[in-house]
Amino acid sequence: MAARAEKKAILTIENVDKKFPHVHAVKNLSLKIYEGEFVALLGPNGAGKTTLLEMIEGLQFPDSGRISIDGYEYHDNERKIRSLMGLAFQETRFPEKIKVGEAMQLFGAFYGIGGSRLKEILELVSLTEKKDAYVNTLSGGQRQRLALGIAVIQKPRVLLLDEPTTGLDPHARREIWHILADLKRGGSTLLLTTHYMEEAEELCERIVVMFRGKILADGALSELLEQHASHEIIEFKLSKSAAAQAAAHLQKLKRVSYFNYNPDEAKGVMHVDDAAQILPDFLRRVGKTNLESFAARPLTLDDLFIKMTGRHLDG
Ligand code: ATP
Repeated sequence: MAARAEKKAILTIENVDKKFPHVHAVKNLSLKIYEGEFVALLGPNGAGKTTLLEMIEGLQFPDSGRISIDGYEYHDNERKIRSLMGLAFQETRFPEKIKVGEAMQLFGAFYGIGGSRLKEILELVSLTEKKDAYVNTLSGGQRQRLALGIAVIQKPRVLLLDEPTTGLDPHARREIWHILADLKRGGSTLLLTTHYMEEAEELCERIVVMFRGKILADGALSELLEQHASHEIIEFKLSKSAAAQAAAHLQKLKRVSYFNYNPDEAKGVMHVDDAAQILPDFLRRVGKTNLESFAARPLTLDDLFIKMTGRHLDG
C-alpha cells in the first residue's frame, strides 16, 4: 500500500453511481488505478463490470460521481482522454474485405500514426506474416491479437480490456497473455475484466472483486488470501446414514474460518490454516467410517469468491 501511495493515479473514479430502469448497476463506487499497475476487475455476471468499464471509456455516463484519466475529465477533454486510452472489447467487428495491414493503417490514421510504429505493432502481436491476409480469414485468437494491436497503436497510458480472451482456446489465450506481459514490461497500465481466475492470477498484481455494483475486495492475491486468514480448503463428503450428526460435530471445529455444508449431498467445505494439523480432530469428530471422501488443497481466489458471494467467479 505504501508503494502504491507514492505512485501517480492514472485513473481516478470517485463516488460513481449508475442506475438503469430496473437495476442499480454501480453503487457509489470509488477506485484509483496507479501508473504501471495491472489490475483485474472480477465478478460474476451482472456485477457491473462492463457498465463501470464503459463509463471509464466514455461510452456511458455516470448519474453522479467523477471519472478522471491522468487528471482529465470527459466534459471538454474527450479528445485528450481518447488519446490516453486504448480499448479492446470481447469481440471486435472489422469492416468486411479489409486486410490486416489495411486495418492497422486505418486505425493508425486516426492518430496520424503510420510506418515503423505499425510494423512494430504487427511484430508485437505476431501478425507480420498475416499482413496481407483478409481479416475475415483470421482465427479468433488472431482477431483478438489484431484488436489488441489496434488498441495500443498510439501508446496509450491506460489499456482497458473487457474479457479479452473469452471464448479463445488455451493456446490463443496464452498468446494474448504474452503480449500483455510484454506491454507490462514496457510500463503500460492495464485494467481488465475477466471471468478467468487464472488470467487474473497470471497477469495482474492487483485484484478488484466487484459484486452487485460494489467493490467487495481489493488487493494483491496474497493480501486477499491473507485477510481471510486461511491457506487451505478441505472438501469432504459424509456417509448419508450419519451425516447430520457428523456435520454438527464438524461445525464446532476450531481454527476454521469458513464452513459450508450441503445436507442434500452430504458434502461440505471448510477453510483452514493448516489441513494436516486439523485432520486428527476432524476424524475424531466425524468417525472414520462416516467419511466417504476427504481432500485438502491450497485455497484459490475462486474459493474466496464463493465465501464472499456464494457464487463461482465464472457464474
Ligand atoms: P457480465 O460479466 O455478464 O458481462 P457485468 O459484471 O459486466 O456482467 P454489467 O453488464 O455491467 O455486468 O451489468 C450490470 C447490471 O446492469 C446487470 O443487471 C445488467 O442486466 C444491467 N444492465 C447493463 N446494461 C444495461 C442497460 N443498457 N439497460 C438496462 N440494464 C442494463
